[in-house]
Amino acid sequence: MQKGNIGVTTENIFPVIKKFLYSDHEIFIREIVSNAIDATQKLKTLAGKGDFKGELGELKVTVSIDKEAGTITVSDRGIGMTAEEIDRYINQIAFSGANDFLDKYKDDANAIIGHFGLGFYSSFMVSKRVDIITRSYQEGATAQKWSCDGSPEFTLEECDKADRGTDIVMHIDDDCKDFLEKDKLEALLKKYCSFLPIPVVFGKKTEWKDGKQQETQEGNVINDTEPLWTKKPADLKDEDYKQFYRKLYPMADEPLFWIHLNVDYPFNLTGILYFPKIKSNLDLQRNRIQLFCNQVFVTDNVEGIVPEFLMLLHGVIDSPDIPLNVSRSYLQSDQNVKKISGYITKKVSDRLASIFKQDRPQYEQKWDDIKLFIHYGMLSQDDFYDKSKQYALLKDVDGKHYTLEEYETLVKDTQKNKDDQLIYLYAQDPESQYTYIQAAKDKGYNVLLMDGQLDTPLISMLERKLEKTTFTRVDADVIDRLIQKEETKRDVLEAERADRLTTIFNSQMPRTDKLDFHVEAQPLGEDQLPVMITQSEYMRRMKEMSRLQPGMNFYGEMPDMMTLVLNTDSALIKSVLEDSEQETAEKLRPIEAEIKGLTARQGVMRQEQDKKKPEEVTQEEKDELHKVGEDIQAQRDQKNGILADYGKQSERVHQLIDLALLQNGMLRGEALTRFVRRSVDFIK
Ligand code: ADP
Repeated sequence: MQKGNIGVTTENIFPVIKKFLYSDHEIFIREIVSNAIDATQKLKTLAGKGDFKGELGELKVTVSIDKEAGTITVSDRGIGMTAEEIDRYINQIAFSGANDFLDKYKDDANAIIGHFGLGFYSSFMVSKRVDIITRSYQEGATAQKWSCDGSPEFTLEECDKADRGTDIVMHIDDDCKDFLEKDKLEALLKKYCSFLPIPVVFGKKTEWKDGKQQETQEGNVINDTEPLWTKKPADLKDEDYKQFYRKLYPMADEPLFWIHLNVDYPFNLTGILYFPKIKSNLDLQRNRIQLFCNQVFVTDNVEGIVPEFLMLLHGVIDSPDIPLNVSRSYLQSDQNVKKISGYITKKVSDRLASIFKQDRPQYEQKWDDIKLFIHYGMLSQDDFYDKSKQYALLKDVDGKHYTLEEYETLVKDTQKNKDDQLIYLYAQDPESQYTYIQAAKDKGYNVLLMDGQLDTPLISMLERKLEKTTFTRVDADVIDRLIQKEETKRDVLEAERADRLTTIFNSQMPRTDKLDFHVEAQPLGEDQLPVMITQSEYMRRMKEMSRLQPGMNFYGEMPDMMTLVLNTDSALIKSVLEDSEQETAEKLRPIEAEIKGLTARQGVMRQEQDKKKPEEVTQEEKDELHKVGEDIQAQRDQKNGILADYGKQSERVHQLIDLALLQNGMLRGEALTRFVRRSVDFIK
């Protein structure tokens, strides 16, 4: 028997393995089974080249548990190892700068295992002793048994082994006994080995017999050796892709689209990405894409490899070229990985473009489901925005879809304002904005529906990207000013009367911390409603953005600012105005005369003072001017009080205000009840 020390140049590797690699213990099974697969594939390759002339026989890897002995054994019928190979591949572990590296990556088992080529030694994370029983495929090779108990000493001796190949026997540590549970080990095999290219057998298949599950003679193969992504897209049908998706995500709805990735230059990458159907925000999960390396599952954290906006997709990616056994930060700076991310973006984009071209009706039908991904991509990646221009759609309130270019063509003749700006009108809630949408349509305008989760930032981005284009919500202003052409010439109410009218309504508007109203008198045309409420685009959008972005709370806390517009062309408003003038004329006449007198005096005094140098104006004169100003204000307050009194007792004023509020879904509670009562009285 040969004895020796494992070639560790720094300290003993075993304490390192045990101490540092506590979190990812389970990956030992991935490492040991993949070694067995590699050895099997190497033999196949040798046979293919004619270097191995024996019988290949049934090539499989068997995983078994011996509970009594407390062992897990992984057996293969691959190339095996000679004594000399064991010495070279197992005993000599070269370390350089080990301490520094271990310090840096002590929480990252992948990095450590990868750095030192410690795949096999990961078995010591869970074992108190590991035996290798192996016989090389080479003619005349003797079987060898290597054994090591986790100290740097090992033993190597000849042994009996009839068949070619390797058994790795792991004597499981007392504190890792749960790996000896069939269910636990099976779950791990499913996680890491489901798509390995050589059959992996774990226990026996069971079948339903005599009223219970019974073991059969047949081995229980846990993997699919030819997963869908390894096949040629031309050989696959839609149903194959759907079936594979169901296998990956048994609980999910049918996917919308899929993209089969297949590239071999400048890097190797295969995979299938699915656009999932998203029912709610709760479904938005990252880390649903599984990353494989030659069909070995590595991780479901694809950050850095898949572009951020595509992390919401589902599916698999397999690449031997992604340096898997390294730390995340290294991965993100790797040039190859960057290229992969760019490639995936391009493929996804090409596929969307081709579906759009080939089957636009189907694409439009799915638009609502996929727009979130596309908008996210447009917002987060400029190169994707440029590509997406051909297939990113706008939808109008009637459900018609347009590309950006088509939409511009549609509205460019009708929706340009006097400053040559193209105005894209939109609604966010067609139900509550119905009247405004209707008014815009009557004008011959088109109204877009912008009710998506990302539409607010999208609108801002499109305004930056599209030339001379502004988005305006349909209720941002009265119809004539929504898209202002040349000045409309209508009867404008003289300022004095307009002021009286707005004062009356203003005095009766509801006001809270969250809501502030401004009242305006505007000639909107005889056919328009007497009252309406508008909300300035700018303020509303600032508030919406503040909800999405931290640090913009200033806007978030401001009250909603709305405008009540009184249509001075409306007969009803005219009648309210005339009635108010009659009712208040007597009381207002002396006040208005007084204001007139005071204002005239104020004017004269100002003029006189303006002629003098500031230091020549006496304190007395200053006080006098100030006093006149105060008197005017007092008279105005009195006037406003009279107008407010009128407003207060006028059922029509209240009814009109309430109708405007009601139309915007803002009439609630006690105010709504009062409105209903009043309405009943009106029709009695
Ligand atoms: P890596 O697989 O990254 O080279 P490992 O520590 O996992 O590192 O294995 C070291 C070497 O031991 C392998 O390269 C291979 O030559 C040999 N080896 C490990 N397991 C087997 C096996 N089951 N059959 C044949 N050779 C093996």
